[in-house]
Amino acid sequence: MCGKALSPCRSAFNPVIVAAMLRQYELVERVLAYDPDADQAMLNRAYVYTVQKHGAQKRASGDPYFSHPVEVAGLMTDLKLDQETIATALLHDTVEDTLATIEDIEANFGPDIARLVDGVTKLSKIETMAENELAAENLRKFLLAMSEDIRVLLVKLADRLHNMRTLHYIRSPEKRRRIARETMEIYAPLAERVGMYEYMREMQALAFEQLEPEAYATLTGRLEQLRSQDHGQVDAIALAMKQALAAAGLQVQVWGREKQPFSIWKKMAERHVSFEQVTDIMAFRVITQSDADCYRAIGVLHTTWQFIPGRFKDYVSTPKTNGYRSLHTALIYERSMRVEVQIRTNEMHRLNEFGLAAHWAYKQGDRPDGQVGWLRDLIEIVDASHDAEELLEHTKLAIYQDRIFAFTPKGALFQLPKGSTPVDFAFAVHTDLGAQAVGAKINGRHVPLRTPLNNGEVVEIVKGASAEPQLSWMGFVVTGKARAAIRRAVRAKERAEIAAIGRQLFDEIAGRLPAKVGKKAIRGALERLGFDVEEELMHAIGSSKLADRAVMEALVPGSTADLPEEPGQGRAISIKGLTHGLGFVLAKCCHPVPGDRIVGLRQKGEPVQVHAIDCRALASGIDADWVDLSWGEQSFGAVGRLRVVLYHRPGTLAEMAGIFAKNHANVIGLDLAQRDDPFHTYEVDLEVQHLAHLTRIISSLRASDAVAQAERV
Ligand code: MN
Repeated sequence: MCGKALSPCRSAFNPVIVAAMLRQYELVERVLAYDPDADQAMLNRAYVYTVQKHGAQKRASGDPYFSHPVEVAGLMTDLKLDQETIATALLHDTVEDTLATIEDIEANFGPDIARLVDGVTKLSKIETMAENELAAENLRKFLLAMSEDIRVLLVKLADRLHNMRTLHYIRSPEKRRRIARETMEIYAPLAERVGMYEYMREMQALAFEQLEPEAYATLTGRLEQLRSQDHGQVDAIALAMKQALAAAGLQVQVWGREKQPFSIWKKMAERHVSFEQVTDIMAFRVITQSDADCYRAIGVLHTTWQFIPGRFKDYVSTPKTNGYRSLHTALIYERSMRVEVQIRTNEMHRLNEFGLAAHWAYKQGDRPDGQVGWLRDLIEIVDASHDAEELLEHTKLAIYQDRIFAFTPKGALFQLPKGSTPVDFAFAVHTDLGAQAVGAKINGRHVPLRTPLNNGEVVEIVKGASAEPQLSWMGFVVTGKARAAIRRAVRAKERAEIAAIGRQLFDEIAGRLPAKVGKKAIRGALERLGFDVEEELMHAIGSSKLADRAVMEALVPGSTADLPEEPGQGRAISIKGLTHGLGFVLAKCCHPVPGDRIVGLRQKGEPVQVHAIDCRALASGIDADWVDLSWGEQSFGAVGRLRVVLYHRPGTLAEMAGIFAKNHANVIGLDLAQRDDPFHTYEVDLEVQHLAHLTRIISSLRASDAVAQAERV
């Protein structure tokens, strides 16, 4: 069970030091081998820095911790990556796991390396999150979106690959399984997405062994068995192909492809086929000298053996989006055996396994400085490009341009549509948090709640104890969840206000009853009226859905039998300034509502007529006494008259009715007063609570697209 990092001869005396990790000079020499201009002093400093910072920290294997970043750096040299990436690999865990800071790294290694290390550190945050907190796809998207520089992603993938190679040292089976599952669901697909097939396959193999130990053991055993029963058949077919191609003048290499337990298992599960059906098919790879030879080779194979129709794929002239190029076909060998063949040049093969990075190099053609060049170009484009679209075109990384990803201070990740604000974020975290938001901090700095969020920002919501969602937030929130929650809260607040008005009315109504109204009477009333809670009763009274008499009757059955009909339309109108016992009516010409300045006209034998002070009827000089009046404190509910001009088209009348309903105003009368297409003028009598209520309704009407004009008559 010796990992790649371990020497076969561990000393019994000092097991810590002898682990044969890559030595400092070996690492530097590896870089110099492909980049002779590399800054040796810098690489040496990075090596020493990570050794010092990680100090006596240990890996689960018992190795010193710094063996891990050194191995990750080694993996990066296999990909011939630039010195900044090598240094980043060496330093990638120092900020997360030691006392080192980004500032310190910048001071020692410059802003470029600091930015890369910071990028890897940010990606590592997701590992500290609770499992299942977010779907794997979400995390993959996040990693892609965050990896603005492909080198960050490459270091992260190498980091994960090395952790998988040393996974068996971790003693807790739960932890091993968690890491393996993460690898299978997040990192292997990511490696695939950027075309790093070698990384992908190794990660899958190691994770599969951990996650499905029985399936792994069974499949490995059966593959072993197959190989022993093969009797050189694979070699024989490879040789036959090679000879047929050589006869046509083609110089090729042919080899049988190893079957991977995981890919067999996946095919069995996905296609519901047996082990035999998967392994029946033998797979070969043909490496040719040139692109043209690929097509010549497939011509030879197709004329020598029968090919299976529909299985030919030309990814040479039309590469896959990740840059993969190869010809694929399937043949029938000796009338019974199915044989899959991939044909490609050596260059294509290297690029296919090397991934997105190599695809870049390929498109750039020959370069004097070889492997390091593609990266330099890519970085230049990333740096120079302020246009997100262009960046996307070049890196194929930022696939999720329409999403942003933001963290809570505890490191939980939330995916939101682009343009989302701290309010959207707060509601995404929890409805209560959204409701209580009064301010926000982004990366520790106070910002207005309407500030659009950027990728990777840490968002802290400042809470206020009695804060409530504001209608004005509707102007900038983008998520449906936030919209719905704000609307709900505003509606609830309105309900509460109306219920409060209702409670005042209730007290006034109850005061008219001879006996004191206690809890028992209220419970009885609720039952008789079919309400569950007091709040519903108060809301019904407040919104004028319940007449005073009905309330009294419900509280004390029979109590209203002897009462005369109530004067006026007002439900709880009291007028100050009237001689006690004098009846009154609210005038039908001006429809005064509580809040209007009023005056009374008194004629003998009639109830006092209550007019608005600016009513035209007053100007015509009615022969009556003028009485100075004002509204009683408990006055609520009267009929106001509006003139509303609607555009004559379907739905406008319903829209108006909706505005009345939303504002809890009962329509008492509705007349189509005038048709003057495209305008229809309505006169509406509305039961409203008070002047402010009426004014609010008029403003809502004026704000509507359906309404051309709205005013009080
Ligand atoms: Mn690491």
